[in-house]
Amino acid sequence: MDNNHLKNILKEVIMPGENINIIDKGIISNIEILNNKNIIIYLSLENPALHIRNKIYEYITNIIHKKISNDIKINFNFKKFNKYNNIKNIIAIASGKGGVGKSTIATNIAAYLSKQGFKTGILDADIYGPSIPIMFNIENDYPTIINKNGINNIIPIINYGVKIFSFNFFIQNKPSVWRGPMVSKILHQLIKNIYWENLDFLIIDLPPGTGDIHLSIMQEFLITGVIIVSTPQKISISDVKKTIAMFNIDNIKVPIIGLIENMAFFIDNEFPNKKYFLFGKNGIKKLSNNINIPFLGEIPILEIICESSDNGYPIILNNNINYNYKNYFIFIMNNIFEQINKLILNGN
Ligand code: ADP
Repeated sequence: MDNNHLKNILKEVIMPGENINIIDKGIISNIEILNNKNIIIYLSLENPALHIRNKIYEYITNIIHKKISNDIKINFNFKKFNKYNNIKNIIAIASGKGGVGKSTIATNIAAYLSKQGFKTGILDADIYGPSIPIMFNIENDYPTIINKNGINNIIPIINYGVKIFSFNFFIQNKPSVWRGPMVSKILHQLIKNIYWENLDFLIIDLPPGTGDIHLSIMQEFLITGVIIVSTPQKISISDVKKTIAMFNIDNIKVPIIGLIENMAFFIDNEFPNKKYFLFGKNGIKKLSNNINIPFLGEIPILEIICESSDNGYPIILNNNINYNYKNYFIFIMNNIFEQINKLILNGN
């Protein structure tokens, strides 16, 4: 038994629902023969649906048992295929509920990364509450479309060094199209045509909760990890748990970078040392501990955060505000870097 022999045998396995064998399809990235009883097969697939994977595993196992020996144990190592190798890290920002500050945090993360010199893009996929164009002060802009070799490339708008694409550019006044199965179709079509060039980081602002758009985004991209934002009250926490459960589903399986507690407490500018815990104390911090997911940090309720969002000028870029306020974001950013490094080291 050697690699070529195995590859020839595997040519007899046809991709479920297609007319091509798995070798010609290119889904087998490596075969490792450990000894004459144990082999590891590495595969990468664009469509990671569990039932398709299981079928392929079953066909491979059957044919190897039939053609070589029933004693061979086959281990499968699956990696989702990365269509976007021009983008180094893709971070999704999610939440259980709307209005908890997900877009505010996505905006500040993207602005910070760009300020640090990283090539950064942001994809606003929150089609039901698209606030990214306001937060980046590009509300009235429209992306340019350039036809290259018959393909329409959508050129993202750039502000504060961040390349910005929002589905809102294309859906203003057309909400009815954005229901049901049409959503996924249009989304995939548009995403394919966005011309990001090379990025170190793509930040994706997901809609709140769990739904079709999440599934489409997870299918399209190989996500490095997801950050979940929540306010601390009990009512929000049960939704956070549902969101976490979605990212843990077997054929989605996106690593969770950590949780952020937004609107953790209120600070009055005149008495900056006094914290008012309007929505309860440490709700998300405690949840992180209980379920063993990293806690990335907390952000207080500050008038200046809301003002910055409304004015389209991310607070993290504003040099005229109290540095202590910016430190809440910087602390979180350092934790995010640390967690991403861990994920990369663990081979995720
Ligand atoms: P989501 O994306 O979760 O729907 P947004 O980021 O759009 O939420 O935030 C909702 C509103 O709350 C916005 O007006 C935003 O400026 C404001 N906001 C978010 N976080 C804070 C905060 N920490 N302090 C004050 N206002 C905030």
